[in-house]
Amino acid sequence: MAYERERQVAVAAVVQASRLCQAVRRELVSDETLAKKDKSPVTVADFGAQAVVSRLLRQAFPEDPLVGEEESADLRGPEASAIRDKVVGHVRSILPDLDEGAILSAIDHGDYAGGGSGRFWTLDPVDGTKGFLRGEQYVVALALIEDGRPVLGVLGCPNLPVDAGDPSGECGCLFVAVRGEGATMRPLDGEREQPIRVSEVADATQAKFCESVEAGHSSHGKAAEIARRMGVTATPVRMDSQCKYAAVARGDASIYLRLPTRADYEEKIWDHAAGWMVITEAGGQVSDVTGAALDFSQGRTLRRNRGVIATSGRLHAAVAAAVDAVLNGQSGGTGM
Ligand code: AMP
Ligand code: MG
Repeated sequence: MAYERERQVAVAAVVQASRLCQAVRRELVSDETLAKKDKSPVTVADFGAQAVVSRLLRQAFPEDPLVGEEESADLRGPEASAIRDKVVGHVRSILPDLDEGAILSAIDHGDYAGGGSGRFWTLDPVDGTKGFLRGEQYVVALALIEDGRPVLGVLGCPNLPVDAGDPSGECGCLFVAVRGEGATMRPLDGEREQPIRVSEVADATQAKFCESVEAGHSSHGKAAEIARRMGVTATPVRMDSQCKYAAVARGDASIYLRLPTRADYEEKIWDHAAGWMVITEAGGQVSDVTGAALDFSQGRTLRRNRGVIATSGRLHAAVAAAVDAVLNGQSGGTGM
């Protein structure tokens, strides 16, 4: 099996970081934090998860750089001491030997610029911060990129139902994919991995869409127009985070649309690399809204791409054509 050690280390790191996120949520998120729209719990989870993953990767693969979403600058000042202490406490409950300095430097190890040659990891320690606070979907997303292409992806999804048909049943899933070796899912707390495949639905009228909860991250109005054009009747499933990639990868939905809301936004590689890997290995297909392949070789962002279309594969050409017609066609699109 290729990337066997990388897979093992990445899975262990994502599981530990997911547990940290769950512990932070249990301890720090209250009705009061939600009412005050206080984002500090997710800040603690974000920094803590990045420290844990970065440290475990560094121990196993000291030469590998990391493109991580967070940097410790905002944690270092005196005004951040309360949050910093919480981060340190949570990280030390998993890695007791680390002191504050080692934790901050592990976070800063995520400052790599990325690019098209050599290998590096990319991490979104808490993707879907709003979902984390609401108690809905969020993901710890980790991918290994080699010469500009993801080769390994792991998604830890602490709140995703193991069975989409039983949303009140067991929650917590882990998705893993290695290039050329397929994609698997297992319960976050279990051992048994099962292969996953995208949906076989070939008729767009039977397809399900998923999209961001946040209308600022993907245009809900344009997605509704695209759905109408394709004859899709099911209401869109709205979820935060790369859980949308996982949902399409295991066949809960057939289409994930991320339609630009701003002309100047560049998608971040950590928001897509692990999801791309999982869906691609499950038989699905990903492009941007122009139909171009995602280009992970351009640094920390997907600066050559605009938005994302991810599908079960069969429907990709039809979805891409409908997206093009709505964004650029006669229907008054802005061409964003
Ligand atoms: P989601 O949960 O799918 O809505 O995506 C969450 C991610 O959206 C965050 O990790 C941000 O990096 C990213 N994001 C922030 N602003 C935008 C934007 N204007 N368009 C698209 N994505 C964004
Ligand atoms: Mg993110």
